[in-house]
Amino acid sequence: MGKDDTFRRQGQVLVVCAPSGTGKSTLINMLRREFPDFGYSISYTTRAPRGHEQDGREYHFVSRDAFVTMRSRGEFCEWAEVHGNFYGTATKPVETMLGQGCDVLFDIDVQGAKQLRNTFPDGTFVFLLPPSRAVLVRRLTGRGTDSEESVARRLDNAAGEIRQADFFEYWVVNDDLDMSYQELRAVYLAGRCKPALRPGILDAILGTWETQGGGDG
Ligand code: ADP
Ligand code: 5GP
Repeated sequence: MGKDDTFRRQGQVLVVCAPSGTGKSTLINMLRREFPDFGYSISYTTRAPRGHEQDGREYHFVSRDAFVTMRSRGEFCEWAEVHGNFYGTATKPVETMLGQGCDVLFDIDVQGAKQLRNTFPDGTFVFLLPPSRAVLVRRLTGRGTDSEESVARRLDNAAGEIRQADFFEYWVVNDDLDMSYQELRAVYLAGRCKPALRPGILDAILGTWETQGGGDG
């Protein structure tokens, strides 16, 4: 077995969830900028594209009928209805990326994260928290993309999502952006060291004792 085979790693599933407005897109973009090899799971959705969104880049935009057909064929490893639209993750592309040793980032909601743990029990599940309701209001109104009604709905949903934070292995309170980024980055890097992502590595390393013989390094 060559060095490359010995040290080959399976990709890590990194799931990041947060109430809308917490800063999830901001932090995920920072992570993808620093680690450009990150695989990204492009979800399927029945909602319409917004602004500059392109089919196949932010999402695969599909009709409700097409989504339901994919779902009935068992093509999704998780799916959920969020704000009246369907969202789902197709299993195949994710498995391909993981098999190639590529880490895969998921930006999905809490319902989806819970389902995904059944498929990827060795994944890393992170929840981002706003420091307070007042800060969340400021961020939601400050970014200027949501109507008053939409902000009110997101605030209501936020409390329900925060009550489910116990499901997650890691919490990052997004107060100071730089510190939050350092924390998210640390969680990601630690997740890469999970033994489950290194099947066979101990045997491979110990095997070098057998092939090299006694103690000459
Ligand atoms: P989400 O993707 O969670 O809905 P965004 O990343 O769009 O949230 O962030 C919402 C707003 O809050 C944006 O205007 C963003 O620039 C701002 N923001 C994100 N993190 C912080 C932070 N730690 N401190 C101050 N403002 C922040
Ligand atoms: P938006 O429509 O604003 O892009 O996303 C709305 C919500 O749907 C966000 O919380 C986002 O994380 C979530 N979401 C996006 N893709 C998926 C997916 O494939 N599955 C699930 N369960 N949620 C998703």
